[in-house]
Amino acid sequence: MGETMILRVAHLYPEVMNIYGDRGNTIAIRHRCKARGVEVEVTGVGVGDPFDPDDFDLILIGGGQDREQQRIAEDLAAKADAIKGAADQGMPGLAVCGGFQLFGQRYIDHDGSVIPGAGIFDVETRHPGPRADRCIGDIVIITEFGEIAGFENHGGRTYLEPGQEALGTVVRGRGNNAEDGSEGAIYQNFFGTYLHGSLLPKNPRLADELILRALRRKYGQAVELPPLDDAVESAAHDSAVAAAERRSAPTVTRWNGFAGRLRRR
Ligand code: GLN
Repeated sequence: MGETMILRVAHLYPEVMNIYGDRGNTIAIRHRCKARGVEVEVTGVGVGDPFDPDDFDLILIGGGQDREQQRIAEDLAAKADAIKGAADQGMPGLAVCGGFQLFGQRYIDHDGSVIPGAGIFDVETRHPGPRADRCIGDIVIITEFGEIAGFENHGGRTYLEPGQEALGTVVRGRGNNAEDGSEGAIYQNFFGTYLHGSLLPKNPRLADELILRALRRKYGQAVELPPLDDAVESAAHDSAVAAAERRSAPTVTRWNGFAGRLRRR
């Protein structure tokens, strides 16, 4: 062995889909790989750029408002088959907020325009209109990767189709639709979520989950990630949880996908 591992990251629409620090997800991936001697190549893939999933090991996309989503809609439609095909083949990825909405089946935006999605997640998102309440605030969810904390700000409400797994269950905050307590979605190795923050810097376990899935897919199941000193990351996480406990109401959860198999850390 002794071969240096390389993680090739496609950062989709980095100039357009980047609010509330979503770019930090790329920085966290880079940092946590470098600390383990794993090389990282991040390629921004924008509107009009070619995209061949075989050139990449991990896909990241951040959030954007309806206007930004409209700006990338046509290009995304052209790339959708490639993105969906890669996810079907186990490509790991993370799609946040507006990116999550567009990786579902469709997003019906604030003025009723339908933006077709890449269809990775079997979800539909509907914006109830410009006068409706937005889902804004600190949010904590419980997932199979532990407790995850972040910040959400979205008008769109996302509904999971039967059989579509959520990423987690909301403990504080609104989540997918402020109704059923579900948050995000998982399809194979691809995660969708409403959590900005940035998300990965303060949720290192989720960052490592993505890195590990990507490296194992490329280099084999024997790949392990040595633990890092996460004192700073843990402090950021704990402070985000504390903010949510102070500022966001406890969530009544009707979605019970995880109820039996999850326990609080
Ligand atoms: N435009 C979407 C909404 O408001 C997503 C916003 C976001 O990415 N923060 O629902």
